[in-house]
Amino acid sequence: MIRTRFAPSPNGLLHLGHAYAALVAHDLGRGQCGEFLLRIEDIDAARSRADLAGAILADLAWLGLEWDGPVVFQSTRLASYAAAAERLKELGLLYPCRCTRADVLASAHAAGPEGPLYPGTCRGRNGDPQGAAWRLDMARAVALAGPLAWHDELAGVQQARPELFGDVVLVRKDAPASYHLAATLDDAADGITLVTRGMDLFPASHVHRLLQALLDLPVPRWHHHPLLVEGDGRKLAKRRGSPGLTDLRAAGEDGPALAAALRAGRFPAGLSLGGGVEGGA
Ligand code: GLU
Repeated sequence: MIRTRFAPSPNGLLHLGHAYAALVAHDLGRGQCGEFLLRIEDIDAARSRADLAGAILADLAWLGLEWDGPVVFQSTRLASYAAAAERLKELGLLYPCRCTRADVLASAHAAGPEGPLYPGTCRGRNGDPQGAAWRLDMARAVALAGPLAWHDELAGVQQARPELFGDVVLVRKDAPASYHLAATLDDAADGITLVTRGMDLFPASHVHRLLQALLDLPVPRWHHHPLLVEGDGRKLAKRRGSPGLTDLRAAGEDGPALAAALRAGRFPAGLSLGGGVEGGA
């Protein structure tokens, strides 16, 4: 049975792009007699807010979406992230890193999908783990896992290229997991068979595929959909006037009618589906 999920981070209110992403996930799951789960990605204690999580649930219900089972909150799953990180440490694949964002910026000589590429400054240093982030020794991890492939429903078979990311952070200084580790573990724990999300997260799937191999997790399929963009091709942003779902709801707009329009590809003036599918991303 197919099972999809929508996994917003409660550090801001949803906009029309999120509505589109939620509808894609919902329809690909429920539309094939499967299930659709809702996961609130709230491990970032400094930026996550319970009131925003509440607004997200209300906005999705206003659109007419229903989800299966209870809402999953990542903040209730910290122990499972810590256990997976321990396992990776035992395999000798993680090392502590105390570099700040500014250190990385100053030392990087290349860029990866998430910005400046960490040059591996702390690798092999056996630094003080107290209060450090933990990074994946990418070269060792890739050597251990061997060649990997994954399947995107729109872009086809992809050879995994996690090395594009360099030594990614898997345990943050301020949280027991980074997005990559938490999302990968949760998709496995929840039996997600089709991971749907925007094209902007296409490269992240290279890392997730590697983590699945290292941690013996089941491998789902992926569906990275085009993003809803402004007329000039830029991502939606509230500061440029893209309306938030909560505002539309408060203004008495018809949520199911908006959902129907988005499903039919009728986007509000000035918005369109941008990007298309870029296999290599
Ligand atoms: N929480 C992520 C976001 O809001 C989504 C992650 C995912 O779908 O894998 O961008």
